[in-house]
Amino acid sequence: MKNPLWFDPGLCLIGGAWCPAAGGTLPLINPSDGTEICRIAKGGRQDIDAAVRAARAAAEGGWGRMTALERGRILTRLGQLVLDRVDDLALLEAMDVGKPLTQARADAVALARYCEFYGGAADKVMGQTIPYLDGYTVYTLREPHGVTGHIVPWNYPMQIIGRSVGAALAMGNACVLKPAEEACLTALAFAHLALEAGLPAGALNVVPGLGDEAGAALSGHPGVDHISFTGSVATGALVQQAAGKNVVPVTLELGGKSPQLVFEDADLDAALPFLVTAGIQNAGQTCSASSRILVQRGIYDAVKSRMATAYQALTVGPAIRDLRLGPLISNRQKEIVNGFLSKGADLTIAAQGQIAADAPGAGAYVRPTLFSDVPPDHILARDEIFGPVQVLIPFETEQQALTIANSTDYGLVASVWTRDGARQMRLAKALRSGQVFINNYGAGGGVELPFGGVGKSGHGREKGFEALYGFSQLKTVAACHG
Ligand code: NAD
Repeated sequence: MKNPLWFDPGLCLIGGAWCPAAGGTLPLINPSDGTEICRIAKGGRQDIDAAVRAARAAAEGGWGRMTALERGRILTRLGQLVLDRVDDLALLEAMDVGKPLTQARADAVALARYCEFYGGAADKVMGQTIPYLDGYTVYTLREPHGVTGHIVPWNYPMQIIGRSVGAALAMGNACVLKPAEEACLTALAFAHLALEAGLPAGALNVVPGLGDEAGAALSGHPGVDHISFTGSVATGALVQQAAGKNVVPVTLELGGKSPQLVFEDADLDAALPFLVTAGIQNAGQTCSASSRILVQRGIYDAVKSRMATAYQALTVGPAIRDLRLGPLISNRQKEIVNGFLSKGADLTIAAQGQIAADAPGAGAYVRPTLFSDVPPDHILARDEIFGPVQVLIPFETEQQALTIANSTDYGLVASVWTRDGARQMRLAKALRSGQVFINNYGAGGGVELPFGGVGKSGHGREKGFEALYGFSQLKTVAACHG
């Protein structure tokens, strides 16, 4: 792989200037072969504090006073710069996350699309006029929170930065971004492009570092007005507690155990590619991965056999080989996934994929695994594994499918495969989930579609227009004029 680093990766961006972190640097590991890519900044309390102050100055200065039209133009320009560098960004993400190149490229295109969407939307967020008492004129204003904190995980850095920082900037907030310590290169590249697009100093600050240092400092900082967190349930709870001490609102995008419900009248040819891809994309390290496949008894054996054939054709290898799956993010994540696989020792493995013969031994590779006839209360059917592991669960009736689907602590995404229109509508209402897809899964990414969870999948919505409401607050103005 050519070295795609076209900037110094060891720095933070604070107030428009690239600077070293007070805490020194950390190694960044390529999960495809275990080698060190470079060293990144190890930001801490002092750097976060400087970044929050720089963001405050931008929010109360030129950036805060800029018109929505001008903000939108900068974001739109940024989208074009991202598109111009799609291949460079994809290489960075492939190296850093271990994501196969085609997926990394799709993520870079999605980042551009978020910038375009929120660039176009910036001047279209309007308040209301409210009919009220005689002698009053009442209206609402949508205003930015001020300084927004963005804590991002390693699995989809570009997409998550696009949806959260893109929407926050569109509303006129100044952002402090804390990317994940395992994968932060595209966050830094994005910040370089943002400056090139004309984003004023301090409107976007980036401080890489460890979660319990830089992340904890950001979530508990009294100068932050809103936090967007994407990551695990345990860390989300810590972030919410820390922000709660400052009475700061938090959007939590957490994990999932998302089901697909396949009924006997489904178009199986249409469903099959989604049943597998939704579980193994990004080696299963996707919050909205479909890890539970619920299949009605009459077609259960057919679905099992066709999914098994698809699994046998899966090969895992280095990101640069651009196979269906790359490595997991780290050997630590590999241990977690292998731990779950051993908890499935009492289950039947319907099929497994292969690890490419030339995959480096130090890479974080695991074989994608499909388990069949899994009891709905088995730990593999309830806990988020965050690896390429799916469970097949048979059901008899619609009610039984619904009960199983709604039986985990999570509720991020669900999908229903059936030709029965009434059943589609019934289940769309009854499924406990932030998104429901009918005869598809994921709708091609859906930059425009509000996204977020219920239960332990989190709260608040990002993506689409809804995110603009989350990244702003409403002021009511009541004028008494007699
Ligand atoms: P994680 O919670 O360990 O880390 C996420 C981010 O939080 C990282 O930037 C990390 O540095 C930071 N962090 C860690 N400890 C912190 C602390 N004490 N205070 C503040 N910040 C801290 O999660 P992960 O292992 O990186 O990601 C995997 C999890 O994220 C999975 O459960 C997955 O489902 C979830 N996820 C959810 C979505 C979504 O949109 N719902 C998207 C991606 C990942």
